[in-house]
Amino acid sequence: MIDQDAMETLKKNTPGNLPILWIVIPCYNEQEVLPITAPMFLEKIEQLAGEGLIHKESRILFVNDGSKDRTWEIIRSLSREDPRYVGIAQSRNRGHQNAVLAGLMEAKEYCDITISIDCDGQDDINAMDEMVRQYLDGCEIVYGVRSRRDTDTWFKRVTAEGFYKMMNKMGTEVVYNHADYRLVSARALRAFENYHEVNLFLRGMFPLVGFKSTSVYYERHERIAGQSHYPLSKMLALALDGITSMSTKPIRLITGFGCIVAVISFIGVIWSIVSHFLGSTVTGWSSMVCILCFLGGIQLLGIGIIGEYVGKTYMETKHRPRFIISEKTWEDPGDTNIRIG
Ligand code: UDP
Ligand code: MG
Repeated sequence: MIDQDAMETLKKNTPGNLPILWIVIPCYNEQEVLPITAPMFLEKIEQLAGEGLIHKESRILFVNDGSKDRTWEIIRSLSREDPRYVGIAQSRNRGHQNAVLAGLMEAKEYCDITISIDCDGQDDINAMDEMVRQYLDGCEIVYGVRSRRDTDTWFKRVTAEGFYKMMNKMGTEVVYNHADYRLVSARALRAFENYHEVNLFLRGMFPLVGFKSTSVYYERHERIAGQSHYPLSKMLALALDGITSMSTKPIRLITGFGCIVAVISFIGVIWSIVSHFLGSTVTGWSSMVCILCFLGGIQLLGIGIIGEYVGKTYMETKHRPRFIISEKTWEDPGDTNIRIG
């Protein structure tokens, strides 16, 4: 069943000046949680439309990120049940950031505003009311910010908050305690489209786009069902990506540190020469080993960090697609125009 015509009319922006909202939801192996949260999103759209804040032609867009379970079947059957559910499928699992990007790039063709949110019910959907109001007041980007993390484990809270502090220290502009729950207007997304980087760190990139923006605060809940896909190793990888994709401050730090070490070494050289001529040298095996180890360590660290940037440059020069959409619920599987971005 193809809803192509309906989608085409949507593209032409409906009159009445009420914004069409598309909620963009990345889903990876979420078969347990999707049947519970999907109706919640629908209810939210109905409520917002009922209050006259958004257009009733608003949609919920699920992005299946190459799930290995029944997630895509669930999305397909939801879209058959109600046309307000739509879905796109990535050709394989590409990770949360790429899934969100794919969804946003697709949604911006049909809507005036997007709100990206996880599908696990952790982020309070009631914050959307305030987000839309802020948009109607003239903001193009509204960040959802967690006011409390009581429901997170101690470990998750400490590591996550440490992450934001470190990011800001390292020169990446991120909104404290904001993940990827945000409203972005189609206008801002058209500007955002010109950021072509492959190493995605969306929450650090949107502040760079500019436009009038603000934050909305909400409480974070526990996951309704299923399991987190962000173990410590993935969080560390995201933090490292965030810093090295957005800032060159680590290179500066290493350079600064290298200068200090060079000055100390220079003083050490003079000291050893003077000691030699004064005849007070002893077999300085331990100090030699210390210095060698120290310098070796610093050099390796420096090479590692530089390598990180070289690696990123390498990936950027390839210009590989950041997402490939292989299916859409509103097009027949064989007919889908594969969208690559
Ligand atoms: N997700 C995704 N691709 C992945 C991993 C996660 O699209 O490779 C989605 C997932 O379905 C969820 C969101 O990203 O909607 C956040 O993931 P999760 O809830 O597991 O992370 P946490 O909230 O624990 O940090
Ligand atoms: Mg989650």
